[in-house]
Amino acid sequence: HTEENIENLVIGSGYGGAVAALRLTQADKKVVMLEMGLNWEKEEGKYKPFSDLITPKNNSTWLNKATQAPMMNIARFNKKFTGVLDRMDFENIKVYAGRGVGGGSLVNGGMAVQPKKAYFQEIFPDLNVDQFWDTYFPLAQKELDVNEISDEYYEQTPYYKFARVGESEAHHAGFEIVRVPNVYSFEYMKKEEAGEVPKSALAKEVIYGNNHGKQSLEKTYLKKALETGLLNIQDLHRVDYIKKTEKGYTVYVDLIDTAGLVIAKKTIHCQKLFLNGGSVGTTKLLLASMHKGKMKNFDKSVGSHWGNNGNVMTGRNMVNTLFNRVENESTESNYSTGTGSKQSTIPVSGIDHWEDKKHAFFAEISPLPMGMEVYTALYLVINKVPVPGRISFDPSINDIRIHWEEKNFKHTVDNAKYFIKKMNKANGGTPSGLLWKGGYGPDICYHPLGGAVLGKTTDLYGRVKGYEHLYITDGALVPASIGVNPFLTITAIAEYCMEEIIKSDFQEE
Ligand code: FAD
Repeated sequence: HTEENIENLVIGSGYGGAVAALRLTQADKKVVMLEMGLNWEKEEGKYKPFSDLITPKNNSTWLNKATQAPMMNIARFNKKFTGVLDRMDFENIKVYAGRGVGGGSLVNGGMAVQPKKAYFQEIFPDLNVDQFWDTYFPLAQKELDVNEISDEYYEQTPYYKFARVGESEAHHAGFEIVRVPNVYSFEYMKKEEAGEVPKSALAKEVIYGNNHGKQSLEKTYLKKALETGLLNIQDLHRVDYIKKTEKGYTVYVDLIDTAGLVIAKKTIHCQKLFLNGGSVGTTKLLLASMHKGKMKNFDKSVGSHWGNNGNVMTGRNMVNTLFNRVENESTESNYSTGTGSKQSTIPVSGIDHWEDKKHAFFAEISPLPMGMEVYTALYLVINKVPVPGRISFDPSINDIRIHWEEKNFKHTVDNAKYFIKKMNKANGGTPSGLLWKGGYGPDICYHPLGGAVLGKTTDLYGRVKGYEHLYITDGALVPASIGVNPFLTITAIAEYCMEEIIKSDFQEE
């Protein structure tokens, strides 16, 4: 058991944590960052390479003897390992999250989507939207290295046949199509296809980590922060709970090994504390600290306004679309059906149906790179969450519960059904046997949001109400849904909060 005294502690190394670390170190503050997952870069990448989708090793999966990704074949392992993709199972919802230095950026599809301005304003009525559009979104895009696929490459590569077919079908069904920016380098991808560099997106790597090409946080924010010499990242450090002390906070940490066993305990005393464990991680820390650390001053909103960004995974079997296509004379599908045996793992297209009052949704045209033609079109549909769920702490299991019921997600399934019905009517297609019973997965959550919402659990800059020098700048601040893939928004909000926190709360030093 060891004890440490430090000034600034950041818990979690995803988007919220990485922005906090960069802006603090750039302001000349020393920072310690704790991350429960592995530092995948340490010891020359000893635990890499990351696994592809088809042949996952145990570094694909967080402390489980089998992979847990949706749709993919299940692989089994002899030993549990602190792998990169976690799935937290609750009663009606399974929440996925990245584990390791870089958090979700290690496993996500890299889609860097700016939300609808009007919806952002609806979700955050107290924020100055123009300031976000002029300053914080462009800043986040720049720091995250966001880029766009060129039309020229998109139109000709076999690896985006799935997206071109998806766009042409959506167009034919009367939907609006948008091209979506990404943090995966499309210059790198072109070189992959030309055989000039090792393949990653074109070699079925994504949710178990990309070995190349993706500008995840350890290559952007965290790299810059480390270059200041003021950031110290400690991996395999899992925070249990926190307590308020006279001068700041005491943080109780379990040090784990790569099998997930607790090998030591650490107590860290800090003056300023930044909680950035992601929506579920941060909310869990707040609730655990309320119960175990006797922190009773939190606002009563802690745990509320939680949602899955209205995520529903759905798809269509396309075998019967060939004949329709010939009739419809839609592009390229005259000659072949299906989505292609070669598929990039990086999504670049979306269907924007947000303005429809009755069925507002945004659907990502997702790849399903199985290495062969599977005649399946896959979509991640994103919806509003008018009735948010809630996270609570249950002392009898010493863990959280997520309250997520039909009233929270029924409309998301209705929207997905409406979407699929229109697509099938225009293009052919039937429910996919590869997917869930009925073809809809509303129990999936790639985009957990909320639990410690901006302006409710915190003030308008992420300062936790009821406590001094306790901050949150991650996805927990966003109430339940933002209408598009969320990390660009999370990064922009973190930038906005950190600017004010550094300006006002570090003055006395
Ligand atoms: P996270 O990125 O989750 O970071 C939290 C970090 O804190 C983690 O590293 C975690 O291990 C650590 N942590 C948590 N609790 C503790 C603790 N108690 N002690 C120590 N460390 C702790 N979003 C998009 O915008 N575009 C996409 O294309 C996209 N694709 C996705 C695909 C997948 C498969 C998944 C799972 C997510 C995807 N997302 C995508 C969502 C996006 O990754 C998340 O919204 C984002 O990572 C959330 O950022 P965050 O900072 O809130 O938390």
